[in-house]
Amino acid sequence: MVTTLPQGEEVVFSFKGKRLGDLTYIYSPFTPEEINLYRWKDDKIINLYSPHEGGKRKKIFISFVEMFEVKSYKIEIDFKPQQFYISGKAKIEVESKVDSLERIRLKLNPKLDILRIYDEEKRALIYSQDRLRESLYIYFIHPPPENKRCSIEIYYRGKLVPPKQVTDVIAGPQYDKNLTYMAPKSETYFFSRSAFWYPSPPGDDYFKARLRIIVPPEYQCISNGELIEKTRLNDVERVEEIEKTGSSVYIFETKYPIKYLSFLVGKFTKVEEDSESLPLQHFYSSGINFQKKGLIEEAKNIIQFYESKFGPYPYEKLSIVRRIWSTSGGHSPASFIVINELSQAQNGTVYVNKRSPVDLSRWKEYFIAHEIAHQWWGQAVTWKTYHDQWLSEGLAQFSATLYLVEKRGEGVLPPILKKFSQWTRKKSIWGPITLGSRLSYHDPKVYQAIIYNKASLALNMLRDLLGEEAFFKGLQEFFSRHKYGAASTKDFIKTIEEISGKDLTIFFRNWFDSYVLPEVKVSHSVLKAEGGYILKLRITQAKELFVFPLWVEWIENGNRVKKKLIIDEKKEEFDFELKSKPRKIKINPNKAVPGRFN
Ligand SMILES: [Zn+2]
Repeated sequence: MVTTLPQGEEVVFSFKGKRLGDLTYIYSPFTPEEINLYRWKDDKIINLYSPHEGGKRKKIFISFVEMFEVKSYKIEIDFKPQQFYISGKAKIEVESKVDSLERIRLKLNPKLDILRIYDEEKRALIYSQDRLRESLYIYFIHPPPENKRCSIEIYYRGKLVPPKQVTDVIAGPQYDKNLTYMAPKSETYFFSRSAFWYPSPPGDDYFKARLRIIVPPEYQCISNGELIEKTRLNDVERVEEIEKTGSSVYIFETKYPIKYLSFLVGKFTKVEEDSESLPLQHFYSSGINFQKKGLIEEAKNIIQFYESKFGPYPYEKLSIVRRIWSTSGGHSPASFIVINELSQAQNGTVYVNKRSPVDLSRWKEYFIAHEIAHQWWGQAVTWKTYHDQWLSEGLAQFSATLYLVEKRGEGVLPPILKKFSQWTRKKSIWGPITLGSRLSYHDPKVYQAIIYNKASLALNMLRDLLGEEAFFKGLQEFFSRHKYGAASTKDFIKTIEEISGKDLTIFFRNWFDSYVLPEVKVSHSVLKAEGGYILKLRITQAKELFVFPLWVEWIENGNRVKKKLIIDEKKEEFDFELKSKPRKIKINPNKAVPGRFN
């Protein structure tokens, strides 16, 4: 049974819903961005609503997120893969952001037990573990004053099975349900943020970390940062050390701040490596027999391309690990990427649901391009609240699209834009981009269609609106301003407006804060004129005013002509003087603007 005893200043309300049964609502003054509604009948938290940030109203409480900052971690882990057993010691350095920091809240997996917690002077600290909210509260004996740093040491252990779904691209149904899949044969153990395998900060806090991990001799480990040492345990003095003899000890250290720590343990083979400009490695796990050589070359090209568009690669290396897993997908923690492959896809074909809104796997480099983009978008720059999640998935998806165009030419853009547009039109009614993860509660495809696809279309329109130079200068500036920190949609708008010198209020309101799509009436006429023809286009927006770039195409004298119009009024007319009569006039030919055109 779970406890719903109020912690600290929390208030707990229980009530009965007609259809949903008993519900418990926990009001916590320390997490104003979270509202948890707990449903008793299936032991589930069903809602994570949080109110919009900002506004004039004064905040009564400050959240735990604002009370302290995590500065660094020193973690030592002994991991026994066969038993799924973790023993750990985490030394955490925190800095107080209030007059007197009496306690802190950290996130920790409820399966892990705390043995003891010490402060710097080795005094045992009082703590309480709230297993329902995966939280650990620690109370200081001498509360540190503002800006003072102090460290605590937490000893913990427990049986922890890696979460099954570890993916950030394409969360949700991936492949056709009528196909059956065998359980993965290979052994890999991946613990990332959602596992809460170490006491983690409650918000997005960037820190530096050092991880020392002991694994049995036959296993290897990949984690964030630089591998600075790899040794074996040989000294045996005490009898309890005998079983550890021969075990591998890995030490990883991050040079750049990261927002969470992850590690992957398994049996790997290194296929390729390159360290010309940046250390790159390609591993695959046992059970994979399709080598996919050339992945490193591709990764190198992708990184070079992104660096030219967004700024320098933000971490010290990139390890790519392919493993067999029961669901396909990828995950991209700082400085490494885990690609989950289905055991049935051994000849290199990827079994994905072609009806998935975000799948572009007909271009084989799409997947890795999306995952590498997350090193910039999602890792080095993260989102402030759920309203801003598109800064990760939307920008990563858009970046992957840019790379596909770079590699294969402009011809790939129309089918991608059409797909994004179709899904946007189908699902946009559920809410705007800034509704973030709340879109996924009803249907994961809604989240994909809006956060990945509509956001990509909006970014593509923004590029057309501002021109290549201003757009990418803006993206670079946004990245460098917010590197190793969290940014909001507001921060994004501010940077882009500053760099481009344009007021983009209506554009962002249209495309990011509203679920409505434009309804546009377009009529054209061709008039005979002196020395040729005049093509007249009349554009009328039936409902609200949208700002967008609109492409128009026609055939003139056997040649395709493309023109970009900037639409920023409800009624507009455009005249084109032509030498010969235009044929096959197409408005919004690639569906780059989602909406209704007639
Ligand atoms: Zn993604």
